[in-house]
Amino acid sequence: MAEERLELNERGLPPVRRALVIMAHPDDPEFFVGGTIGLLAEQGTEVRVLLVTDGSKGSDDRALSTRELIRLRREEQREATRRLGALDVIFFDYPDGELRHEPNVLRDVVRELRRFQPEMVLTNDPQRFYYESGYINHTDHRTIGAIVIDAVFPAARNFRYFPALLEEGFEPWYVRELWLAAPLEANHEVNTDTTAETRLQAILAHTSQVGDGTWIRERFAEMREKGEPLLEKFKRIELGGPPQQSDEEPPKDHAEAKLEASEEG
Ligand SMILES: [Zn+2]
Repeated sequence: MAEERLELNERGLPPVRRALVIMAHPDDPEFFVGGTIGLLAEQGTEVRVLLVTDGSKGSDDRALSTRELIRLRREEQREATRRLGALDVIFFDYPDGELRHEPNVLRDVVRELRRFQPEMVLTNDPQRFYYESGYINHTDHRTIGAIVIDAVFPAARNFRYFPALLEEGFEPWYVRELWLAAPLEANHEVNTDTTAETRLQAILAHTSQVGDGTWIRERFAEMREKGEPLLEKFKRIELGGPPQQSDEEPPKDHAEAKLEASEEG
């Protein structure tokens, strides 16, 4: 197993070619990791966004049909993604609010990992049930976090998972950096001061969610006035790369992980 880790640059980011942001709903990427997406795009990383649900419960407006809401939110997400400098958005369209950790969703995520081959993946922390501010974390945010973790390891790297994907031409892929947003316990933070405005503009693209954006603008202005750096916090998990051809031993990452886990408090 390749043990070398990816070095972070002065902005606290790995110098990766491709990053995939996998989240549940339109506007989640902007709210959770918008500043970091902006920074990654600036350094030349190709960032793609994968949204797993259709966002079809994201409005209390009874005059708005579900079909129209889905269409509207897709458009908003495309515009937000463009503003962040990311490449594009993929929509899976599983029903909003009903996401379950099921084999078909796991397979679909694994397919995109193997197709796009990102060295870095950003998603939500499945352990985060609620925040100190009193907010309950949405069930889809927790569920997608768990699915993505399981897709990154072991499913995407192990050819025995979903053999149909091999037939489709998708070979195993080794993600090297897994970043969980708004985590229970952060071990890394990114200063997003220089992309805060970009993130704000991307959030404002979600008109169906933030209206004219007055409160969002005020919140950003307040944060700026405080003069503190605008941080996005993560649980950063570094993963080994593919086994080297020169290695005579079989990959031992799974066994090694269990041995080390037995010693961890
Ligand atoms: Zn959400």
